[in-house]
Amino acid sequence: MSQQKVCFIGAGNMSRSIISGLVNSGYTPQCITASNPSQPKLDALHHDFGINITNDNMTAAANADVIVLGVKPHLMEPVGKQLSSLDLSEKLIITIAAGVTAQRYNDFFKQEIKLIRTMPNTPTQIGVGLTGLYASDEISQEHKALCETLMATGGEVIWVNKEDDLNQVIALAGSSPAYFFLFLEAMVQSAVKGGMSESNAREMAQQAALGAALMAKKNPELSLAQLRSNVTSKGGTTAQAIATFEDGNLRQLVDNAMSNCIARAEEMA
Ligand code: NAP
Repeated sequence: MSQQKVCFIGAGNMSRSIISGLVNSGYTPQCITASNPSQPKLDALHHDFGINITNDNMTAAANADVIVLGVKPHLMEPVGKQLSSLDLSEKLIITIAAGVTAQRYNDFFKQEIKLIRTMPNTPTQIGVGLTGLYASDEISQEHKALCETLMATGGEVIWVNKEDDLNQVIALAGSSPAYFFLFLEAMVQSAVKGGMSESNAREMAQQAALGAALMAKKNPELSLAQLRSNVTSKGGTTAQAIATFEDGNLRQLVDNAMSNCIARAEEMA
């Protein structure tokens, strides 16, 4: 694997997920630097993964071949302005921020940068993540391949053809682990209300979710509707539950939630 020097500007949850994926798949920790204003997250990263840490964004970025921007979207502008005095012409810049468009980064950095926009999700930290990637035509195949290699350490990667499609990726993969956690929470709450221990309820619900996802993945020739129908006997218990979801208009609710997620990403652009 490429062992270019990679720095992370911002050492929060998502950067930690990617760093974890990188180190766990054999990337040399000494080639990775994280920069963050507060110390505890840096200390934890150094302790857990042996990477370099600093509070100095400028030095971290100046010494890196690849700069991963891992701050919140509203902080991309001050970070870009801070780094704008560096010559970034030979560096690949990867952003993981929701919403902010490629054009705005050029404005923030006051130069034409080589930027790839990515949208990872938190399961990246255990190697089963999904990262959507977008690069304009100006980005070289070498930089695309490098970005793909780095992000693939956390799971699957999928390129999208249009920058706008990244907002769909946010709704489908970036934000969606939280939807599934909400669904699991609701299932566990219901079981606990019915008298089951929380630990048993959680084990059952999460194993069912894992099994369902794996069945869908291992049977791509079957539609999701077919997979559902295969476990739904007419007049049976599952049919009763599914009818309750359909009567409650779960599909419309999911559509509303995803549309609102995308609208929020568009607001951030
Ligand atoms: P987070 O945990 O809050 O991490 C952001 C980090 O940036 C914090 O550690 C913060 O440090 C640091 N920071 C703040 N100002 C900085 C500066 N000037 N220079 C360097 N670091 C600075 O947020 P997150 O959830 O990881 O999200 C980070 C990015 O990932 C966002 O742009 C988000 O859109 C994107 N993303 C997140 C997810 C997700 O599931 N969480 C999924 C896809 C994409 P302090 O805490 O010390 O202030």
